[in-house]
Amino acid sequence: MTADRADRLTKVCDTCGRFRSYDPADLFCIVCGYETLSAECGCGRAFDYALAEPEGGGLHCPRCGKDWRGAKSEW
Ligand SMILES: [Zn+2]
Ligand SMILES: [Zn+2]
Repeated sequence: MTADRADRLTKVCDTCGRFRSYDPADLFCIVCGYETLSAECGCGRAFDYALAEPEGGGLHCPRCGKDWRGAKSEW
């Protein structure tokens, strides 16, 4: 199987709250190494919006309003 850029998915790590572009089969966070990646929000919204946001800025789900940056700050 060859990697195709069209198959890239934006996933978020529930442990560290980082968004990155992953292969659909990827399971582990490239930032913290935990197997806690999610390909969509709890409300079912995909994360196509997330990579456009700069690191360190605010980031909320446009459908349910979940605050991803706030979730990360609990650490
Ligand atoms: Zn992580
Ligand atoms: Zn949501």
